[in-house]
Amino acid sequence: MSLQNVVVVGTGQGSFQLAASLREGGFRGSLTLVGDEPGLPYGRPPLSKAYLLGKTDAAGLNLRPPAFYDEHGITVRSDARATAIDCDGRRVVLASGESLPYDHLVLATGARNRPLPVAGADLKGVHQLRTLAEADALKAALAEAGRVAIVGAGFIGLEFAAVCAARSVPVTVIEGAPRPLGRAVSAEMAAVVERTHVAAGVTFRFGAAVTAITGTERATGVAMADGEAVAADLILVGIGVLPNQEIAEAAGLPVANGIAVDAMLATPDPAVSALGDCAAHPSPFADGARVRIESVQNAVDGARCIAARLLGRPAPFAAVPWFWSDQGPMKLQMAGLAAPHDRAVVRGDPESGGFSVFCYRAGRLVGVESLNRPADHMIARRLLAAGIGPSPDQAADTAFDLKGFAAGPR
Ligand code: FAD
Ligand code: NAP
Repeated sequence: MSLQNVVVVGTGQGSFQLAASLREGGFRGSLTLVGDEPGLPYGRPPLSKAYLLGKTDAAGLNLRPPAFYDEHGITVRSDARATAIDCDGRRVVLASGESLPYDHLVLATGARNRPLPVAGADLKGVHQLRTLAEADALKAALAEAGRVAIVGAGFIGLEFAAVCAARSVPVTVIEGAPRPLGRAVSAEMAAVVERTHVAAGVTFRFGAAVTAITGTERATGVAMADGEAVAADLILVGIGVLPNQEIAEAAGLPVANGIAVDAMLATPDPAVSALGDCAAHPSPFADGARVRIESVQNAVDGARCIAARLLGRPAPFAAVPWFWSDQGPMKLQMAGLAAPHDRAVVRGDPESGGFSVFCYRAGRLVGVESLNRPADHMIARRLLAAGIGPSPDQAADTAFDLKGFAAGPR
């Protein structure tokens, strides 16, 4: 049977890209995106950066203007939560009771913020950041804030810390691990990131276990296991996310830290695929292990992979993972999956504000982190795609022609 009717659950980054790629590839059937947020698909990256700083407005976040969806025959059902999947009947059930038939279903449900499991986490003044609505609430609170505390020194925490510093609002970041960005970058890069934030006025508390948010109606601060407390009237919790996998699990699809898919991003049900933050796929960049990657690139390239398969051009998902984070003066870019690595080599002078870290596992280049060195990042993506890398000594030698090496023998 040829494909006539594709339904996507989720109206985020991956969902939008799937619809756009299917139409671009000539798909003429029915295309419906079902999402539980209001409005059209929008990009989240500016929510913790330009949007909070007032450099872009809500309309500027939209991935495409409203006319795009009309012109391309894409139906967006916003404010509509999918509550169940009937795999045998090939239907998605919505909270309203309505059910939508599909020939192929794509799950692009993303992730939700991990709740902070301590007393007081629901007090007024405690925020999380995933959606436009949450960004609006955070932006309004920041305008009134006297002191900010951030729980979690991950991407959300550090990007928001940079915004607070830019606004000259005193800010303390409280992190359980001994350093920032433990999941995302090498110790070498983390040290420079930390130093740069400290120079901008950010205070850090590492190795700290949060025991409570203090206050009665409104939050007044964050209490820690060592008996100390950080006073704050605005608290942002950014301690990672949980994949939105429950409707897949209830439908009998396998889940393991995400909806488990194969190298083609297909579930064991031939009519259901999954992508983006909610999906765990075997990656050639993790020696074939299943990974769940939380990034725009992963959602976008995953959508392209599924669209190509639905259009009759199947190929495994093998795009090089890459990430970025803007934190004040720091443009951090990462290529590959560097964790775990057993050797890290610095290229360039960290004191200069621009350098890269080349990460090796068992002698193989597995990731490159660049701070304010976009050329290194672009070369790294080429190297990782080709499965080649300079030796650690070559990587450390700034006189070594990395670009020429990536171009290969002429
Ligand atoms: P999402 O874009 O999250 O979309 C999933 C959608 O599905 C959501 O709207 C969700 O509400 C909806 N949904 C879930 N369950 C249901 C259901 N049952 N029924 C209907 N709808 C449902 N990545 C980067 O690479 N660089 C960055 O700089 C960057 N900055 C970020 C800043 C912030 C503040 C945040 C929150 C994320 C950032 N990310 C960044 C991560 C990036 O935005 C995500 O990895 C990306 O959005 C994942 O796309 P997705 O399509 O998988 O999920
Ligand atoms: P994250 O990057 O996973 O970082 C969470 C941080 O919180 C980690 O350092 C984690 O340490 C720490 N943590 C966990 N539990 C804690 C606790 N109880 N007390 C103190 N610290 C704790 O997640 P995030 O920053 O919350 O971001 C949420 C999502 O948005 C992610 O998907 C992220 O990728 C995405 N995002 C991406 C970008 C970007 O790519 N530029 C920007 C913003 C947001 P451990 O690792 O030791 O647990």
